[in-house]
Amino acid sequence: MTKQSLQPVERGQVADKRSVPQKAMDKLGLVRDIDLALHLPLRYEDETRLTLLRDARDGQTVQIEGVVLQNRIEMRGRRQMIVKLDDGTGEVLLRFLNFYGSQQKSWAPGVRLRVRGDLRHGFFGREMVHPTVKIVQEDTPLASSLTPIYPTSAGLPQAYLRKAVAAGLSRAPLDEVIPPQLIPGRWPSLRESLHFLHHPSPEVSVIALEDHSHPAWQRLKFEELLAQQLSQLQARMARAALKAPVLPTRDGGLHEQLLGVLPFALTGAQQRVCTEIAQDLAKPQPMHRLLQGDVGSGKTVVAAIAATVAIDAGWQCALMAPTEILAEQHFRKLVSWLEPLGVKVAWLTGSLKAKAKREQLALVASGEAQLVVGTHAVIQDQVEFAKLGLALIDEQHRFGVAQRLQLRRKLESTELEPHLLMMSATPIPRTLAMTYLADLEVSTIDELPPGRTPIVTKVFADNRRPEVIERIRDEVAKGSQVYWVCPLIDETEESDQAADEKAGRASNKRPPLDLSNVTQTHQELSEALQGFGVGLLHGRLPASEKADVMARFSSGELSVLVATTVIEVGVDVPNASLMVIEHAERFGLSQLHQLRGRVGRGAVASVCVLLYASPLSDTGKSRLKAMAETNDGFEIARRDLEIRGPGEFMGSRQSGAALLRFADLSEDQGMVARARAAAEQMLHHHPYAAERHVARWLGKKSEYLKA
Ligand code: ADP
Ligand code: MG
Repeated sequence: MTKQSLQPVERGQVADKRSVPQKAMDKLGLVRDIDLALHLPLRYEDETRLTLLRDARDGQTVQIEGVVLQNRIEMRGRRQMIVKLDDGTGEVLLRFLNFYGSQQKSWAPGVRLRVRGDLRHGFFGREMVHPTVKIVQEDTPLASSLTPIYPTSAGLPQAYLRKAVAAGLSRAPLDEVIPPQLIPGRWPSLRESLHFLHHPSPEVSVIALEDHSHPAWQRLKFEELLAQQLSQLQARMARAALKAPVLPTRDGGLHEQLLGVLPFALTGAQQRVCTEIAQDLAKPQPMHRLLQGDVGSGKTVVAAIAATVAIDAGWQCALMAPTEILAEQHFRKLVSWLEPLGVKVAWLTGSLKAKAKREQLALVASGEAQLVVGTHAVIQDQVEFAKLGLALIDEQHRFGVAQRLQLRRKLESTELEPHLLMMSATPIPRTLAMTYLADLEVSTIDELPPGRTPIVTKVFADNRRPEVIERIRDEVAKGSQVYWVCPLIDETEESDQAADEKAGRASNKRPPLDLSNVTQTHQELSEALQGFGVGLLHGRLPASEKADVMARFSSGELSVLVATTVIEVGVDVPNASLMVIEHAERFGLSQLHQLRGRVGRGAVASVCVLLYASPLSDTGKSRLKAMAETNDGFEIARRDLEIRGPGEFMGSRQSGAALLRFADLSEDQGMVARARAAAEQMLHHHPYAAERHVARWLGKKSEYLKA
């Protein structure tokens, strides 16, 4: 046989070698022994004792043992196997709707079975439906510890996983790595904690186990948080060792010319963050800074000023935005501000035609374009910068982990690392920031530009829709502009892969869209508001059409824009003063806040109307109430954290958030601070142990935490 004909066969065999459960384990990240040892039970089942049928109550989950009296296949509506079991104190029927013929044979009369399940009162007497069954002898011992139930996934049976975990636990090296003086509690060792949590003795309070308050849990939470803090401090130190171009702010430089042409003066908060950024840019280490500020606080102009500093120093700057609409808007704004000052701006998105794209790429590669604006197309492989000095990422939480890693790799390919400024309108509560953003500097714009009148938010049931449309007519007659937002579940734009990654969806398998809501509303409003321009905008329109509609709304030609959440981030039309959000109950709190931030950008008083369909769920009610009560992004973020937990906040750090399996940020805040302190000590005084601890806990995943 020739080599060529052999190869595919070999490859096929290699691919087939891993069984379905093994592949499922890989997916769960259960690769190394230590990964298995750290895969802790969700809950436990008590198989250490038997209950006598005489003592068991209906509704209880019990383990009983008895002898089969009868085993029959019956038709009771559906074909089923019915096993009658007697434990000497009573009888119970075991009912199986799915079963194998072999089971009927082996669970024959006279055989002793140990079964566990929910006891209930059925039509023919006491019964258990689909209990777990084990054939036993009279002297088969009971379990000596609680039975762990592990988090698992499709194709990975509990029993298989249980065996794998037990094997991993026995093989994993579990020596103490953390120096004892750095452990801030009287907790068992790692080995003791793990052995205990996998196989707790039956006397222990199941509640203390399941609510994670047991000292063994405390130990693990600390270990986990320590690993996370260490990896972030390491990232910070690694960055400090890198070289970046020094971008000093020059008196009389481009940034001053920009300030001269702006139609407004910077707020105090904007000036402060500009200074923080300028100080970083002037250093020979790469900046890694998050700029957070509520919707409408004016982050774009701060980014523009940072860009002028880089350009003035002779370097290129890239600005990346998560959607084409937002990127386009930044492009227009930056061109209008900077081209008069002699700055050449290039434009890169996925929808560019081949020829235009080649031209733009050439501008970037030659260095002729000093600023490049676009979607994630900016970081794709063909893009080569002549001299990238500063990368700006707008709405960074909308980008996925993969995109963040791609950017870092792009940046790492040059000898000098560019500086990095990330912007986000989602304020991050302090504990979260400490946990997930420990490797970043944070600047906060905590003040809105002057002259804004607070947005008034009204919550109406959707039967008041006609009244709302009347109100729109009055507004547009006065020359105001109006957004009408419709929900569209599963909308994904070309550059919205981030959302797909977040949801664990493959982006090539996008579900078909139901556009009926937004197109119907567009039609309804067009008819009701004859004589006024009513535009339609959603993610599935061709890029050129999106840009065109947006431009016509910006210029005032369109009075009303019926849109999906494509306008959620960044869109800035100050003349818009009324926003209607229909089916507001379907949106998350942060999303509503982001959407609402599209109005209230000018001097006129703005109104946001939240229409909801009854009946409203409790969380729906509390969300809409929060919206009506406050305009403060930090307060909204706090309430959102209460309602939804930390995952939603971190956006691109989702995977990082998912990595915190044990610690709970709302309960373990004190632990975060202690882990932080211990991490600093350990990194300075026990660097080798620190390496080992991170490798043990994070393995390959540590790359994601740093993304
Ligand atoms: P965001 O922080 O949400 O990105 P933008 O940068 O889009 O906010 O700014 C919102 C609006 O406020 C824009 O129209 C912008 O031109 C304007 N703006 C920004 N800074 C100021 C300021 N200091 N004074 C007045 N208006 C400002
Ligand atoms: Mg913005």
